[in-house]
Amino acid sequence: MQITINQPRVIEFLTGLLNTPSPTGYHQEAIAYVRQALEGLELPGLSLQTNHKGALIATLAGESDTAPRALSAHVDTLGAMVREVKSNGRLLLTQLGGYAWNSVEGEGVTVICVGDGQRYRGTVQTINPSVHTSLQAREGKREDERMEVRLDARVASKEETLGLGIDVGDFVCFDPRVEVTETGFIKSRHLDDKAAVAILYGALLALKEHGLTPTQRTTFFFSNYEEVGHGASTGIPADVVEMIAIDMAASTTGEHQNSDEYSVGICAKDSSGPYDLDVRRKLVRLAQAHAIPYKIDTYPHYGSDGSAYLRAGADVRVGLIGPGVDASHGYERTHYDSLEATTQLVVRYLLDKE
Ligand SMILES: [Zn+2]
Repeated sequence: MQITINQPRVIEFLTGLLNTPSPTGYHQEAIAYVRQALEGLELPGLSLQTNHKGALIATLAGESDTAPRALSAHVDTLGAMVREVKSNGRLLLTQLGGYAWNSVEGEGVTVICVGDGQRYRGTVQTINPSVHTSLQAREGKREDERMEVRLDARVASKEETLGLGIDVGDFVCFDPRVEVTETGFIKSRHLDDKAAVAILYGALLALKEHGLTPTQRTTFFFSNYEEVGHGASTGIPADVVEMIAIDMAASTTGEHQNSDEYSVGICAKDSSGPYDLDVRRKLVRLAQAHAIPYKIDTYPHYGSDGSAYLRAGADVRVGLIGPGVDASHGYERTHYDSLEATTQLVVRYLLDKE
């Protein structure tokens, strides 16, 4: 049977999610967005709950629950937090998640004041941003103490910035700059891992539109602390025997990677070690059986919600798949073909009898 993925609705969902700020620790808006979209599916057998930590757990009844499964994707993204309100009124940052400062240099930001919810605009730049005034504009190292946020407010002192309501601990969200091109590319920050959240949405939508039920009871786990390492460490039902983390395949070409932006990446190993071989073989079997383009790959500097769950002590077989993302943790890009391939594989996995 042919499964069609509803491309316009997946792209619409993804664009909305990308435009919802969710740096790790500030996940409430994004979790609410996903929850509302899943409720809107009115999918029979789907129940939704959140755990104390704030993750969204969607449980879909299957034909059986002899060997329940789980799929995960994370809504939290890279971002920053205010570390100091400086004497010049600008903001020193501390990173949320791991990235190179040069990948956000010059980027627009929104500062979310934790105190009163106020939002301010600004720009991340070095402390010597102008080539006309300092050689350091080109040569200065991009490191914590040399980066700051210039606020779009008339402030020139610590007191004036504090007066706006901005303080240490406030969240700083980088502009995603979402662009969907006519050639099928999707460019945005935080495709890691919002593309995967959209893939799970697309898979559930496909089940609904085709009137299909998964073989096993399946937990769709939307985690909120993946970028800092403990996303899915708790919250997945203890009777789950198999978990597939959906996270981006870091596909930048020319860097010894095998993934690309037009296929689903099946991860054999990352920095946490090899993923389960039986699960990998199953995923490859399904991709081959349904003519889904796939690439096996390894990621040297990478971990996933699957590794988080294993490290927490879970006795479970874990696999990892995802869309190919170029320039991961930078201004990322993927192609719709990769979303399609990954969604197709997720649907085939849900329907698989073995
Ligand atoms: Zn990720």
